[in-house]
Amino acid sequence: MATKRSTTKKLPKKILLERKQNRREITVRAGSVSTETKARASAENGKKGGRPEKPLESYPCTCGQCDSGQGKTNCPRGRRAYYRTYKLRQSS
Ligand SMILES: [Zn+2]
Repeated sequence: MATKRSTTKKLPKKILLERKQNRREITVRAGSVSTETKARASAENGKKGGRPEKPLESYPCTCGQCDSGQGKTNCPRGRRAYYRTYKLRQSS
């Protein structure tokens, strides 16, 4: 009877853990690499003003008067609408 040879030799837990930590370190560093090209692209994209705003309709209205009347309301959509006009006032 031939003895089955295992191709993956089981290593001690300590070594396996060290390998896992090394792999993690390498991955973390690889993810935070910054290059000249990336910096330039990021600056260029920043000029576009960031992520576009979500439409107000995607915020739920719980007060039922956001779309009809003006005035400050305290529902999610009302707060968002107020914040947007606030931003406009700040920038002008
Ligand atoms: Zn509302």
